[in-house]
Formats: sequence, structure tokens, C-alpha cells
Amino acid sequence: MKIYNSYTDQLEDFIPKHPGKVGMYVCGPTVYNFIHIGNARPVVFFDTVRRYFESKGFDVTYASNFTDVDDKIIQKAFEENIPELELSRFYIDAFLKDIASLNCKTDYIQPKVTEYMQHIIDYIQALIDKEYAYIIEGDVYFRVSKLKDYGALSNRDIDELISGSRVNVNELKENPLDFTLWKKTSEGINFDSQFSEGRPGWHTECVAMIDDIFGEEIDIHGGGTDLKFPHHENEIAQSKVIHNHRVAKYWMHNGRLSMKDVKMSKSIGNVILVKDFEYKMPLRYFLLSTHYRSPLNYSEESFLMYVKEFEKLENTYKSVFFKLDIEDAFDDNKEIQNEEILLTINDFNENMDNDFNTANAITALQALLKFVNQNIRKPNNLEILNEAYLALKYMMDILGLVVSISRIKKEDRAIYKEWQSARKSKDFSTADGLRKTLVEKGVL
Ligand SMILES: [Zn+2]
Repeated sequence: MKIYNSYTDQLEDFIPKHPGKVGMYVCGPTVYNFIHIGNARPVVFFDTVRRYFESKGFDVTYASNFTDVDDKIIQKAFEENIPELELSRFYIDAFLKDIASLNCKTDYIQPKVTEYMQHIIDYIQALIDKEYAYIIEGDVYFRVSKLKDYGALSNRDIDELISGSRVNVNELKENPLDFTLWKKTSEGINFDSQFSEGRPGWHTECVAMIDDIFGEEIDIHGGGTDLKFPHHENEIAQSKVIHNHRVAKYWMHNGRLSMKDVKMSKSIGNVILVKDFEYKMPLRYFLLSTHYRSPLNYSEESFLMYVKEFEKLENTYKSVFFKLDIEDAFDDNKEIQNEEILLTINDFNENMDNDFNTANAITALQALLKFVNQNIRKPNNLEILNEAYLALKYMMDILGLVVSISRIKKEDRAIYKEWQSARKSKDFSTADGLRKTLVEKGVL
């Protein structure tokens, strides 16, 4: 299995730190608003990564945080005249509801900054003790110039960064690149510490939470490519000082989603909120149809194509499900033997093994759909259809695509059988009556 590691800019073999186990962390949202479809991209993608690992039998520990202390949260809570934590709790619930509607698993570790404050403060203190951080009038900064390979993830050179950075507003910092670990403030929700009353910086939050949850270098750290610098670079900088490792062995970054070639952003106002979006499963399908590292462009016209494609998937799935169900021919334990089906599964797995190439994996899924459609009407092929159904289910489970359909009732199946035998014996009036009943019951 290979993963493109953003840290080394190379496709590398995936070797977990502990055989059979995967520890992964994905930067989560700052909760002060509903998420838009661009925010959903990393959530859907990394949920798919988790699903694939789990399908291969890995024991996955998946964590993703909620930033529930932030200037934007304070600002919005002030505008709405409610406590910050009430606001953040509301948007945490909304987030979980939204991602569940896209069939993302929600049973992962969800650290919140407010619940990790002491750990974050201790982490900052440890950086001060090692002389990689300093306090100026209650604010704490990280001493970037002391770290030799700062910029390794985003391939930036410290000297270039310094000459390129604008003169900072805060003249008190030793260096304009030094980033905030703790900010002294009396505005909004704040916390007591040995530095001052204030709030932690975002870059320390993630790394301190990872430290507490995993206690070691993790396997995978994920997030949007926009987070590479400065957020992830700064996570790595702190971790190198405290633990002498780069937080994660593999860094994975997904490309951003644009709308008509413009970045989807709340400040521009070109957002489509997940909660208002009608096509939940087609959206998941659309988000996975492009390689995660490539930028993705949304437009109504192009999206319509994915709605239609998903509809085809839905119809094929339903038809094979129905055929097996009505004949009571499901066998979940059947070993897949058909060569053509095995080839599509192999193709699917190979693409997932190759840096989670969901785009090509979906092409394999489509080949399978074609196979099903070619075989659905052939006589005496229930075994093959059962194998195709199992393969379809396998791929869809990994991609997190669901088609809602329920099993036929026993009594309806009996009516269906009677109808079939009436047709066979050319008893057309009985057959017509039974057919009518089946249509009325919604079976046909
Ligand atoms: Zn983060």
C-alpha cells in the first residue's frame, strides 16, 4: 500500500508504526458556522481512508478535533448575545449531523480545545522550558529561528520567509515569523495560566491534543492543503522540540474545492451549505470522483452529471438487490469466483492501495455496474448476481455510498412466486390479479 507523503513529497510504502494498527488525526472545524460542501471534502475523503483501512482489517484510531475557542466564535457569540460554549456546542451538533448525512462515521475521538486546556498550557510551558518559546507581556511566542529545518513540510526557506514577511504589527516579537502560542486577552472566554489570562494559539491546540490522545508519533495526519502552512508547519515545529518527531510519519493533504474556479469561502459568500444541499449521496460520490490531491471544481452543470451517474448506480444496485431478494437468494458468505468480478475487485483494491485513488476505484465500480447490467436478465444466474452484489456492496461500503432499499416481506415474496408459477402455467387471469396486488404493495 502506498501513500503520497506531503512531508517528503514522495509516494511511500505505508508501514504502520504498530502492525495491524493505524493512528490518524485530521484537523477539524472551528465551530461558529454551518459547513459548506468544500469543508466536506476532507471529512468525506478521510472517512473513506478510515473505511478502507478497516476493510483491510486494521484497527484504526481516528481523531479529529473541534476548535471551540477562537476569535470568530467569540465575535459571533457576542453578536448573537449567547455564551461562546453554547454557540460552539450548537455548531458541533450541526457538524455531526451534516457529516452523518454524507454517511461519514461519527464514532471517532473528538477532542475539544476547552477540554484540553491544561494539557495545552503544559505543552506551551515545556516549549518555554526548552527555550523554544518566550513570553512578552503575557503573550507567548515560538522561536522559529532556533529550529534548523523549519519549513520542511511546505518547502519554505526561513530566510526567504523572513525577507518576504511584512513588518509585523507586534514590534515586540523577536522575529516576524515567530507564531503565537498563547495570547493574553480579557475579551471573551479566556483561561487562567502562568503566562497570563488568555487563550491558546490554534497551532498548539492540535499538536497538544494529538500528544495527549496518542502519546507518540502517529501514522497519518490529514487536512486540507491550505493548512500546510503555517498550521501544519507549526505543529511540526513544536513537536520536533518536545518529542523530536514530526507529529506524523505520513502527512496527507487534500486539494481544495472551488466554485466556478473561485475558492469557496464564507467571506466571498459563494458557499453552498451541506445542510441545504439536496443531493447528499451524489455529493459524496462527486467528492470522491476526483483524486484527493487534485483541486476540484464545482458547478451546477458538472454536478448534474454526477447526480445522473449516482442514479445509475442506485438503479443497478436496486435491481440486483431486488432480483436476489425476490428469489430469496442472498448468500453473504459466498466466495466470489467469477473471474470478471474478481478482476474489478482487484482493480478497485489496486487503486485504493495506490494513494487512495478513489477516482480510479470508482471507474472499477462502474465496470462492475456494467457487468451487473449485462447479466441481470440472463436466466439461471443468481449465483453470479449474488457474487456481483457482494462485490458491489464491498466497494460501496468502502466509498461510503449508500442506497436505501429494504428487504421484501416474506408474504410478498410468496405472492411473487405464485405470480411466476401462474404465468408459467399460462393462467393469465390469476397472474394479472397477483401482479396487480404486487404493484399495489409497491413490490413491482
Ligand atoms: Zn490542526
